[in-house]
Amino acid sequence: MGYDCAMARWILHVDMDAFFASVEQLDRPELRGRPVIVGGLGRRGVVSTASYEARAFGVHSAMPTARARKLCPHGVFLAPRFARYEEVAATMRTILSAFSPVVEPLSLDEAFVDLTGTERLHGPVERTAGEIHRRIRTETGVPCSVGLAPNKLLAKLASEAAKPGGAHIVHEEDVEGFLSPLSVSRLWGVGPQTTRKLAERGVHTVGDLRRVDASLLHSWFGPAAGAQLWRLARGLDESPVHSTRDAKSISQEVTYPEDLFREEDIARELRQLAVAAASRLAEEGWLATTVRIKIRWADFTTRTRQVRLPEPTDHPVLIADEAVALLRRGEVHPEVGVRLLGVGLAGLVAATFRPAHLFVPLQLGAALQQIRSRHGAHPLSLGVPGEGHPRPEVGILDSGAKDDADAEMDERGRGRGGGGGVGERNRAMRLPNSDHGIPPRQGLVLLPTRG
Ligand SMILES: [Mg+2]
Repeated sequence: MGYDCAMARWILHVDMDAFFASVEQLDRPELRGRPVIVGGLGRRGVVSTASYEARAFGVHSAMPTARARKLCPHGVFLAPRFARYEEVAATMRTILSAFSPVVEPLSLDEAFVDLTGTERLHGPVERTAGEIHRRIRTETGVPCSVGLAPNKLLAKLASEAAKPGGAHIVHEEDVEGFLSPLSVSRLWGVGPQTTRKLAERGVHTVGDLRRVDASLLHSWFGPAAGAQLWRLARGLDESPVHSTRDAKSISQEVTYPEDLFREEDIARELRQLAVAAASRLAEEGWLATTVRIKIRWADFTTRTRQVRLPEPTDHPVLIADEAVALLRRGEVHPEVGVRLLGVGLAGLVAATFRPAHLFVPLQLGAALQQIRSRHGAHPLSLGVPGEGHPRPEVGILDSGAKDDADAEMDERGRGRGGGGGVGERNRAMRLPNSDHGIPPRQGLVLLPTRG
C-alpha cells in the first residue's frame, strides 16, 4: 500500500442487478420471486429489464415485448417509472461519492469509481469495495454487483462475473486466469464482426487471442485494431475514469431571420439542431443523459425545458424525438413567432463503455455515414416522411421506402398539404441497409446545402 500507488490503479465497477425490475420488486413486495418485465407495453414495445425470474424463461432486455409475452405469459409486465429509478440511482451515486471524488456514471444504474489512493482514508481497497457493496444493498434495497480490478476493462468484466449480487476482485496476478476462458466477444470493442472473423481463424476465447502473434493480428485487422486486440487480450487498459463533475454540455442554437409560426416547422428545426448536437457529442466521445430545448419567442420571452434520459445516448433519432417531445410538452402559441431555438445535451458521460441501447437500435449512425459518403456535404435532418417538406428538392429517406417510393412519397406529401405543394416531389431513397434502425414514420430528410 502507499508508495506504489502510481503503479497500482484500483477501479471499481458497480452495476445494479436487473435494475428497473428490482426497484419494482422493492416497492411492491408481492412481485418478489415473480417474473417481472419492465419495458414498452405498446405494440412495438421493447423490454428494458427482465428480473432474474423472467430471464429463466428466456426473456432479456432489448427483446420485443410481444415476444417476451409469448415466452412468459404469466409474467408481470410493467411500464417503466423513470423518476423512481432516478431516485434510487441518486442514492447509489451519493454512496459512491463518499468513497472517491472520481465517479463516472455509465448509465442510470452503473458507474466506475476510481479507488486508487483511497487506502489512507478508507483502508484496503478490497474492504472498501465490500463496504460500498453492502451500503448500496442496504441503503437502496436493490441488489448490485461489484467488480474491483486494476482498470476499467477488467472491473466491468469482474462485475459481470459477480452477477447476480456478488463481488469479484481481479488482482494483477489473476488477470490471465480470469480472462483466458472468456469469449472474445466479451471484450470491449469486439463486436459481432470481429468475433466472426476471429472464429473463422480458430480464435474463440481470450486465451486463444493471447496466443496470436501481434504481427498476425496486424495483418488480419490493420495496425490500430490489431494493436488494440493485442492489448485487450492481456487485459491492458489505461483509460481514465472520467469524473462528470466538470463535464460540459454541448448545445446548438439558431436565431432565425424570420420567425417560425407553424409547429411542424419548429419541430423540424429542433430535429435538425438535435442531429447536429448529437453528431458533435459523438465526435467528442460523449453520451448525454439530459436533453434540453430553448425557445425564445418573438417577444423575447425565453423558455427552457429538459428531460433526463433513462440511458445515456448519442443516438440522433432518440435525441431528436426527446427534443420534439419537450416542445409538445408545453404550450405553443401560434400567434407569437419563435425567434430562436436551441438544443442542449448535458449530463455527459464518456462513451468508453456504451450501454446497450434498449429503446432504439444503433444502426442510424452507420446509415448517416453511408448517406454522407454518397451525397457529400448535404446537411441532414430528421423528419416525418408523411409531413412533406417545405423546401424544394429535398429527399426523404424513409425506413419504409421501396423502389416505387417516389410516387408514394409524392402522394403522401400532397395528402398532408401544408408546405409540400402539389408540384413538389420528395425524392425518397431506399437505404442500402434495411437494418438501419430508423423508426417507422420517422425519416431522414436530405436538405439542399444552405447558402
Ligand atoms: Mg445493471
